Amino acid sequence: MSESLRFEYASQPMDVSFGAGSLGQLRDHVAKLGLTRVVVLSTPEQAPLAERVAGLLGDLAAGIYTRARMHVPIEIVDEAASVVAALGADACVAVGGGSTIGLGKALSLRYRIPTVAVPTTYAGSEMTPVWGLTENGVKTTGRDRIVLPVKVVYDPELSLTLPLNISATSGMNAIAHSVEALWAPDRSPMVTLMAEEGIRAIAGALPQLKKSPDDIAVRSTLLYGAWLCGACLGATTMSLHHKLCHILGGTFDLPHAETHTIVLPYVIEFNAPSAPEAMLSLRRALGTDDPAKGIVELRRDWQVPSSLRELGVAHGDLDRVIDAALSSPYANPREVTEENLRGLLERAWSGALG
Ligand code: NAD
Repeated sequence: MSESLRFEYASQPMDVSFGAGSLGQLRDHVAKLGLTRVVVLSTPEQAPLAERVAGLLGDLAAGIYTRARMHVPIEIVDEAASVVAALGADACVAVGGGSTIGLGKALSLRYRIPTVAVPTTYAGSEMTPVWGLTENGVKTTGRDRIVLPVKVVYDPELSLTLPLNISATSGMNAIAHSVEALWAPDRSPMVTLMAEEGIRAIAGALPQLKKSPDDIAVRSTLLYGAWLCGACLGATTMSLHHKLCHILGGTFDLPHAETHTIVLPYVIEFNAPSAPEAMLSLRRALGTDDPAKGIVELRRDWQVPSSLRELGVAHGDLDRVIDAALSSPYANPREVTEENLRGLLERAWSGALG
């Protein structure tokens, strides 16, 4: 007998403006929120964009801080916090990827001031109440509604400058959010719809991006998919895939999106027998009978690493990953044991799927 439907669904508050050129309306959005002294945040590489955004904000911009870094180091948060305090700022506008938005979230957490996000990658952090902070080499994460950006402006024109290989791995990072949402213990029909559509959009657009890197319609589809996948990440509990990427990234300081790109097909392969409904969705979204191979095919076109070995992980280090993954229980559709996890990691380490 088939099971009848049962679920819980609470949507995160989200206020999104999406469209090419939508950065032009940022000042109106900020003014409508009643904010009067905002600090624009970016990484050093995106400082020119931060200057441009401050120019667009005009008298609403109190200043800029352009030293955001990957994994939100506490020293950077302290430094940015002193800038926020000195300027008497009432909000942040984070312009960039997950690293910059992560800094905005850390400041929201500390000062209870809102963050407006202008994402320029496909990582999806702007759609989640999850914050991260790295202190003494240890990354802590938590959930707090206060860090969820009060406004998100998605302007695909800003992603035209994202280097192609980073675009590909960032897109795969987004797909990974939706894949895990499909087998999450707290999944629901709404999330499943968003997840499937998000994967379909990105998987369809990535091969197009290779052919037409400057096509704004392709960039727009990628960002649309990233929005949906980010919303899935924000709405569900993540499972083994995010756990493994978090451990690998934190322990060996690996690049975030590339790690996701390598590990994803192996976790799909691993969970496939225990997540039949998720596999149906993935087959539909990827247009293939074998979702793990579908992901491998999708990334094959791009010059990105395809094994943990290539990323510099030593074979002997897999034991540390296994110990860390088994030390705190984590949601996953298939039971994780030392033996089967070793099998998964061995395959990801050697790049068995190609
Ligand atoms: P990133 O923010 O670190 O950006 C990577 C590099 O690309 C940076 O140098 C950045 O300046 C540059 N860049 C970004 N957009 C660009 C553009 N359009 N043109 C040119 N250069 C551009 O990378 P990311 O993958 O977006 O974020 C990774 C971080 O986000 C990790 O620390 C991860 O843990 C975090 N994250 C958090 C969540 C969450 O929900 N809290 C979700 C996803 C990712």
